[in-house]
Amino acid sequence: MAEDPSQWRPETKLVRGGLDRSAHGETAEALYLTQGYVYASAELAEARFKGEAPGFVYSRYANPTNRMFEERLALLEGAEACRSTASGMSAVQLALMGLVRAGDHVVAGRAMFGSCRWIITQWLPRFGVETTVVDGRDVEAWRAAMRPNTRAVFLESPANPLLELVDLKAVAGIAHAAGAKVVVDNVFATPIFQKPLELGADVVVYSATKHIDGQGRVLGGAVLGAQALLEEAYRDVIRHTGPTLSAFNAWVMLKGLETLDLRVRRQAETALKLCALFAAHPKVKRFYYPWDPSFPQHELAGRQMTGGGTVIALDLGTKDAAFNALNALEIIDLSNNLADAKSLITHPSTTTHRAVPEEERLALGLTDGWVRLSVGLEAAEDLERDLSRALDRA
Ligand SMILES: *Cc1c(COP(=O)(O)O)cnc(C)c1O
Repeated sequence: MAEDPSQWRPETKLVRGGLDRSAHGETAEALYLTQGYVYASAELAEARFKGEAPGFVYSRYANPTNRMFEERLALLEGAEACRSTASGMSAVQLALMGLVRAGDHVVAGRAMFGSCRWIITQWLPRFGVETTVVDGRDVEAWRAAMRPNTRAVFLESPANPLLELVDLKAVAGIAHAAGAKVVVDNVFATPIFQKPLELGADVVVYSATKHIDGQGRVLGGAVLGAQALLEEAYRDVIRHTGPTLSAFNAWVMLKGLETLDLRVRRQAETALKLCALFAAHPKVKRFYYPWDPSFPQHELAGRQMTGGGTVIALDLGTKDAAFNALNALEIIDLSNNLADAKSLITHPSTTTHRAVPEEERLALGLTDGWVRLSVGLEAAEDLERDLSRALDRA
């Protein structure tokens, strides 16, 4: 076959990438619900365990359905290799723990998903790993935080919930000069709108729970990067600690990938239409969406992203105004999840970011008036009507 899948356009990769049909010639990807594998001979079993013969040995290590998902996502990302995990958080923990040991140091951007923050500030230090949290927007702060024992930097861009960006190229240059690997949580950008590996990242992590499933069904995650790095840093950790994605969930994710490009482009298009409503509505004090010209880091968004994503943050001034608006919605659901086909909205300071100490919350600018809207696949006109009515009551 002359076709090289790595040369396909993203839409083709998402539908055909990694497809590995069984002898039955099924059209859709097969779901291999199996724990183990059998061998034609004792010699073959020995060879597989030695790594001298290809093939599967146990589903904690690898599974054919998971392999299809991993290959499809790796093709899309432009990564040499991908390993799937049971959730986004297992991917983040694996990505960091696999790179460090006691005595090492990690630097992270301060705006991050609550559980990522816990791993950085609470979990890594328990194992003797020092961590420093910096204002991710400030390139000089990253430079100043580097130490001789800095092994990894971790960042999210755009970050949850106020969509702060980090200059990926600049921070990757600083990290590499200090001998550190760069781990990027690319959930908010999606693999459609940002390619961290091309901007200098070494490892990209996803919560596949979000846009990759995209329909609110199953949890999953992924770690992507160079083959040699994944082998060296993560292979044994995965084998012996078992952060394994269920094959069923991998199958759901494979089908999710087929429509990823269509969904997130439509969602981003709707998000941009909603920005016009937010810009004009008197109850909206400020709103953040990386693709809107009013976004504080709009120029950086244009340099490192190809679309604004599917999340908008709005400041309605006070907690009362925010709660009044949320309670008046009739279509959009109140939920702390995001990246579903259904539009979802949350009040971060009383839910997802409740555990962040108040002074840190305020340093992030996350006051009680902010709500985070995850734009779904409903018609923009219906969402505009729902939001406009709710904002009138804010
Ligand atoms: C949801 C999320 C995670 C965690 O993913 P789970 O699949 O829920 O474990 C990590 N990072 C970001 C940015 C997220 O939005």
